[in-house]
Amino acid sequence: MNPVATCAIIREMAETTNLTDKIKKQLPAELVNFTHVAGGVAASQGQNLYLVGGVVRDLLLGRTNLDLDLVVEGNAIELAKQLAEINQGKITTYPQFNTAKLQWSKWSVDLATARSETYDKPGALPTVKPSSINSDLFRRDFTINALAIHLSPSRYGELIDLYGGRNDLEHKLIRILHEKSFIDDATRIWRGLRYEQRLGFQLEKSTLKLLKRDIPMLDTISGDRIRYELECILQEEYPEKALRRAEELGGLAKLHPSLKGNGWLAEKFEQVRQLSSPNPPPVELYLALLAYPLTEEENESLISYLRLPKSLAQTIRDSNSLKTKLKTLAYPELRRSQIYHLLQGYAQSAIIANSLATSSAIACQHIETFLRTLRYVKPALTGDDLIRMGVTPGPQIKELLQQLHEARLDGKVTTKQGEEELVKGWLVTDR
Ligand code: ATP
Ligand code: MG
Repeated sequence: MNPVATCAIIREMAETTNLTDKIKKQLPAELVNFTHVAGGVAASQGQNLYLVGGVVRDLLLGRTNLDLDLVVEGNAIELAKQLAEINQGKITTYPQFNTAKLQWSKWSVDLATARSETYDKPGALPTVKPSSINSDLFRRDFTINALAIHLSPSRYGELIDLYGGRNDLEHKLIRILHEKSFIDDATRIWRGLRYEQRLGFQLEKSTLKLLKRDIPMLDTISGDRIRYELECILQEEYPEKALRRAEELGGLAKLHPSLKGNGWLAEKFEQVRQLSSPNPPPVELYLALLAYPLTEEENESLISYLRLPKSLAQTIRDSNSLKTKLKTLAYPELRRSQIYHLLQGYAQSAIIANSLATSSAIACQHIETFLRTLRYVKPALTGDDLIRMGVTPGPQIKELLQQLHEARLDGKVTTKQGEEELVKGWLVTDR
């Protein structure tokens, strides 16, 4: 065993902390009950079960977190099956990782088999093998995430803190477990910034130094994994904080050198939150704003680097292409049908991103008119109605419907009857 781990175990033996009260106070009764039952079932088979990761960190911080992650020294899939029977829940298993998700009523819990990891190559997925809780904790990203709680009945509630996570929580520090951590897995760079900014912590001094040193290791991570990290950041309460920090430390430039985590972005993100309140803003809207300063070409390289799925990529492309129409949208005398044609077909988030980005109050007003009314405007008459009125089936139907749509948009007609009169008039002049 390595000396760091030995020291850690000695430290743990010296002071045992029991978190039973915190669990009872902070988790809903159903989940508390579940932890007792699960610990008991595991113990009846001679296996130890633990609560690990974020939920332990948040229990100690007094933050709400209902995402339970469990680790068993045994077989997670078998245990999940038994617990599913008891709770009348359903499970999804991932045999290649030896993990399972258990869901019942409104709850969802992840179960993993304790494992150790070795990294053959920086950035590659690790080779894993079943192991003890101690090795499982050693593979984790930060000391504050490497905490566990015993759930076995005889030791229920006991904190396992091998790497000083509790002390780091008290001192508000984000600290890696060993100095190759960011080399093994550079996604931890993004994770570190995310926790630092979410919790109002600081990257511990040598962790910060290693993070800066290892920024180039972000090149070893696949676009898919980086995209996942970026999406996690954009789901934070204040994503701009981590983006600003990432710019400062050189991580943002790795996504694209033209991206900025500056005051402009912070201001726009805040406006987006107010618009979306009480819901959190959609990730694609944040992303459209983040990518807003990029040129079309730069956008394309960001899209392919992050391997953005079609709809996200489309939003960014739409946002970019709308940018070129903002000047026209700022004309005060635009007809409503002109506003409609300038904006229709674009993704909603792209339109909103542009309305937040433009400095023209008129363009904003036009966008608002489009979003609130124009996009829903439709003629009341259908093709069948027109045929009934004597129009010959064929391309003329489509043309007339379009003209009716324009007339509706521009307020020249407001009722079905009005539309009929308009059509009759057109038919007369046609003859
Ligand atoms: P969050 O509140 O953001 O969900 P979390 O701690 O639950 O925080 P997850 O991403 O859900 O984070 O991961 C669960 C746990 O798995 C973490 O607490 C950490 O111990 C471990 N973990 C996740 N990703 C990594 C990684 N890249 N390297 C090492 N450990 C990781
Ligand atoms: Mg989690």
